[in-house]
Amino acid sequence: MSKKTLLLNSSYEVLSFIVERKAIKLLLKGKVELLSVWNGRKIYSNSGVMEHPATLKMKYHVTLRPTKLTFSRKLVLRRDEYTCCYCYLKFKHNDLTIDHVIPKSAGGSNSFTNCVTACFFCNRRKRNRTPEQAGMILRKQPVIPNKYLCYFPENEEYHEDWVFFVR
Ligand SMILES: [Zn+2]
Repeated sequence: MSKKTLLLNSSYEVLSFIVERKAIKLLLKGKVELLSVWNGRKIYSNSGVMEHPATLKMKYHVTLRPTKLTFSRKLVLRRDEYTCCYCYLKFKHNDLTIDHVIPKSAGGSNSFTNCVTACFFCNRRKRNRTPEQAGMILRKQPVIPNKYLCYFPENEEYHEDWVFFVR
C-alpha cells in the first residue's frame, strides 16, 4: 500500500493529503519544500530514486475557499473514534448507531453538534429522551469535527510529524 503525503500551505495549514505521483510532481517542479520523509521507503521514477515524502510545504501561499464539512454518520463515528459517548466503550462501526442528544421528536437537529456515537445498548436505553431525562451521562460533547478528518483516508498509517499540523 502506498503512503500518503501531507501537503501544507506556506503558512503550515493543512491543504490536503496527496498521492505519491502528485507529491513527486510538486517536488520536481520545485513548488514545495520537503519537511519529512517515510523512513526507508524509496520512490522510483523517471527522474531517479528519491525518498518517499511524508510532509511537503508549499513555497508560496495557496488561497483556498473554506471547506464546509457535510454531516454524515461516517464522520460522526470517526470524530468519536468509534467510541460510544455514553458507556465509552469502543465498537466496530457496524455495532454503532447515531444518537440525537436532543431527540428529533423534541426538535433536535441532524447535525454534528447534536449527534453522537452510541452503541445499540445505550441508544436503546436512552430512547427518545435527553441524556438528563434518561439519567445518562454524555461523556463527550459533540463538536464540529476537524475539517481535515474527511481528507485523511481511514486505516492508513499516520506519520509521526503529522500530529503537529493535523490535530
Ligand atoms: Zn454505549
